[in-house]
Amino acid sequence: MNSIEQLLVNPRLTVRREGSPKSDGKCVVYWMQRAQRGTDNPALDVAITAANELQRPLVVFFGLHPKYPNANQRHYAFLIQGLEETKQAVEKRGAAFAFRPFPNHDLLKFCAEVNPCLVVGDENPMREPEGWRLSAARHLTVPFWTVDADVIVPTKLFPKEEYAARTIRPKLHKLLPVFFQPLENPKALYQWKENDKPFSQEIDPQRLLEELPLDRSASVLPDVKGGTAEGMRVLQRFILERLASYDTARNQPHLAGTSELSAFLHFGHLSPLTIALAAREADAPQVAKDAFLEELIVRREVAINFVARNPQYDSLAGCPDWGQKTLTEHAADARAHLYTESQFESAATHDRLWNAAQQEMVTTGRMHGYLRMYWAKKILEWTRTPEEAFAIAVHLNDRYEMDGRDPNGYTGIAWAIGGKHDRPWAPKRNVFGMIRFMSGDGCARKFNVPAYIERVNKLVRGAQISLNWE
Ligand code: FAD
Repeated sequence: MNSIEQLLVNPRLTVRREGSPKSDGKCVVYWMQRAQRGTDNPALDVAITAANELQRPLVVFFGLHPKYPNANQRHYAFLIQGLEETKQAVEKRGAAFAFRPFPNHDLLKFCAEVNPCLVVGDENPMREPEGWRLSAARHLTVPFWTVDADVIVPTKLFPKEEYAARTIRPKLHKLLPVFFQPLENPKALYQWKENDKPFSQEIDPQRLLEELPLDRSASVLPDVKGGTAEGMRVLQRFILERLASYDTARNQPHLAGTSELSAFLHFGHLSPLTIALAAREADAPQVAKDAFLEELIVRREVAINFVARNPQYDSLAGCPDWGQKTLTEHAADARAHLYTESQFESAATHDRLWNAAQQEMVTTGRMHGYLRMYWAKKILEWTRTPEEAFAIAVHLNDRYEMDGRDPNGYTGIAWAIGGKHDRPWAPKRNVFGMIRFMSGDGCARKFNVPAYIERVNKLVRGAQISLNWE
């Protein structure tokens, strides 16, 4: 086996287009999409190692597509804030960074320009980005490999759809000794000659946000910052101030008890491995660390498994048969309240807690995790059909959550509305049938509801944005 073939035994790697690297190619291209960072990035590591073996320079290509499905200017602002530091981190690793926003974001055109031996990409289980990878594999004329960089244990090691967290947990735990390890972060050894370096457009966040043809349906949040450095700051805050009490505080929405790292994970600004290692090494009670690693590894990776293995992940049709059946049996049940999508969107329901949760999401780009469950279940309770409820929850979640459009979101909604990864619950309830029910009274027993509503009211009053419905 030659040294390039040895790279192919990496369990994170999938060969999308076979063949030997082009012998007269000039470089290796890493097509960076989901893993938007320069450290702890297994796709970048593979690209650097391959470039070193082939004795070629590496260029990281970042083509900015302005119509990423369901993404709006709020999400692009977060993404673009991270780009300059990713560029610098990539350059520190010895590679060039080529930023090509729309209309110059085409990978194939870029490859025609730089003549690579090989293209490396990262992985994303969602429908559209997976489609882009399949299309790249069909059209590229050199080998194309992808590397699963944003999970601890590679998704392809679980080829079937898992039934629940309890079925994937033991499998993940068995593999953690192999994959829950620090990465080497190698350096690229073959540098670009200054004249040959691929052109990179200046990263001017303000201008990009103004000039790109973006969806403007949700406002940019001036107080929310993206990028690896900001992600590391939030991670440090979590480790020092919140991790020790995570097991008890995380389900208390009136407290700031969770990490707030989900958007950094979504945009690949932080690796789940960086976060998990920091938690494992932290000086905190084991029970708190275990609770956090359960969410970060087991719950997150069962969600990725669902989206990777179930093509209907964003509709009721992706939910288990028992969930769909029980909802159908209760489809004709009378609803005490019925709201339209725009009433939900403008937080105009009769329920102050629900409205506060919706306002928290719109105003801060982040709803507390415990309330996300309540929020989605009440949409089921107050709409005409479960299909409509599912669609409304997806629209609002994807539009306003900074971490929206993520496997965790589709799985969370499928859990709340269709019983995905859950079990049937008795006694049967109106509208819900055997889907787990949540009530405002239950919330009041769990946490300080008035304190939460007051906290959101303060946030809304202090918000620098104009709310969408004003
Ligand atoms: P922490 O409690 O600090 O957890 C650390 C990390 O573990 C999170 O960042 C996340 O990556 C992962 N995690 C935590 N809880 C879950 C969970 N239940 N399922 C899967 N992974 C989890 N998460 C998103 O990332 N994007 C979404 O759009 C999204 N929408 C949701 C919608 C509904 C209806 C529900 C019920 C859940 C949704 N979640 C979503 C999952 C979860 O609520 C968030 O990941 C979490 O609240 C993010 O806050 P945090 O980073 O402070 O989490």
